[in-house]
Amino acid sequence: MSEITLQSTITCPVCGHSEIETMPVDSCLYFYECQGCGALLSPKSGDCCVFCSYGTVPCPPKQKIARSSEHPCCKAENNRADS
Ligand SMILES: [Zn+2]
Repeated sequence: MSEITLQSTITCPVCGHSEIETMPVDSCLYFYECQGCGALLSPKSGDCCVFCSYGTVPCPPKQKIARSSEHPCCKAENNRADS
């Protein structure tokens, strides 16, 4: 009974443009081209994909890991205040 969110709103750190994107289920998106300014975004250090860094929802693989087991070492990463 796991519900994985596949849509995430990416906000460009360069121009602030937001775009709703559908994430691939079993892979991470490492590069994302901003639809507003054309900047090529890549994940911040420690993040596996651009959705984890700039999206409202972490990528599906990370959501699965978060639900299936507890990872104390990376728990803090999931505490995102922005909504
Ligand atoms: Zn941009």
